[in-house]
Amino acid sequence: MKAIGGVSIQTLAETYGTPLCVFDEEVLRQKLSAYASSFRSDTLETGVLYASKAFSCKAIISLAKEYGLGLDVVSQGEMYTALAAGFDPADIYFHGNNKTPAELDYAIAHNIGTIVVDNLAEAELLADKMSGQYKTVRTLLRINPGVEAHTHHYIATAYVDSKFGISLLHEDEIIETIRTLQKRKNIIFDGIHAHIGSQIFDTDAFGEEIRKMFAFADRLNTVYGIPVNTVNLGGGFAAAYLEEDHPTPIPEMCRYIISRCEEENKKLKEPVRKVLIEPGRSIVAEAGFNIYTAGYIKKTPGKTYAFADGGMNDNIRPALYQAKYDAFIAGKEEQEKTVEYTIAGKCCESGDILIDSIKLPEIQTGDLLVLKSTGAYGYSMASHYNKIPLPAVVFAAEGKSRIVIQRETFEHLISLEI
Ligand SMILES: *Cc1c(COP(=O)(O)O)cnc(C)c1O
Repeated sequence: MKAIGGVSIQTLAETYGTPLCVFDEEVLRQKLSAYASSFRSDTLETGVLYASKAFSCKAIISLAKEYGLGLDVVSQGEMYTALAAGFDPADIYFHGNNKTPAELDYAIAHNIGTIVVDNLAEAELLADKMSGQYKTVRTLLRINPGVEAHTHHYIATAYVDSKFGISLLHEDEIIETIRTLQKRKNIIFDGIHAHIGSQIFDTDAFGEEIRKMFAFADRLNTVYGIPVNTVNLGGGFAAAYLEEDHPTPIPEMCRYIISRCEEENKKLKEPVRKVLIEPGRSIVAEAGFNIYTAGYIKKTPGKTYAFADGGMNDNIRPALYQAKYDAFIAGKEEQEKTVEYTIAGKCCESGDILIDSIKLPEIQTGDLLVLKSTGAYGYSMASHYNKIPLPAVVFAAEGKSRIVIQRETFEHLISLEI
């Protein structure tokens, strides 16, 4: 790989400096378009919401809007960013297990279309806030369906003691929560939501989630007289990080989900009208590349380190949950991979390792080291550890590049300090 979006890696590094996050805009568009065109059904209304926490900035939110997607947000900051990008608040879904009173006020004031309620106490607070309000808000209730998703523990969300949603094992609490919402005429209870985890390869896990969600929708209707209009299945679809990763392609995954939903819906006394999915990672991960300049090379008795000019401050995933990445050296694509390297960042933590072990051609100081599939949960989880400014973010397509987030300056770094 010599170029990203038709712009040479050398040019990107010279123009914007390193470390640099680059998105291939053509790949972003392919993914968005694949979801928009494949998640369709003849019998169900459908919708795809981009889970903006994977990578949230005005540029990507504008792209999601261009392809007709809705948007997931999980905080006031993400709502603020979406509104600043001109996203229609009616198409925004507000998630989160601990939405603060201020965040709920902000969501109501800005006409956010749907609030995905997480628990009974939140439902009570929302009902209080909506009393005397002339506005109407739609709600979904987050359910924990108890589905084993075979992913890292930190990114699984539907094990029995997960902090998210209300477990199906606590049915009384679910009913009480829905009744609390329904007490207010201006709160529409529209249906149920679940999100079982992230980086899930196993389509059966989604099949199981669909089975449980539709069965529960039927139960709410037939046993409790609560009609369910919408079933929101969340996100979690895997992206390819390594050569051996083969996630189900987006169109195939969409067809599978739709056909399973249609099948299950047939069994219901009162069919569900609408299904939603919320992909984040699978839209942005593979489009992203982090370009670093190699610094010193260090041999220890057991390892050969190559140091990057960034690290856990711009990509904490390897340190946080042993995420694996592939990489290459720009301009050395044709050379034989003869040396086993550990790619370490520059932060003062032994755990600041970007790649634990990778075979690459011999690296010289000054080489451009490129990590692949860094587009999801990289920049969005970045920190100021060691007071390293955040990298710049660039979109590249058809031989042209444009900056979408500026590199932070040292003045920015201390700008809040008194
Ligand atoms: C994180 C999250 C998503 C997106 O997950 P991905 O693995 O990035 O697709 C979707 N829905 C909810 C509620 C989430 O918290």
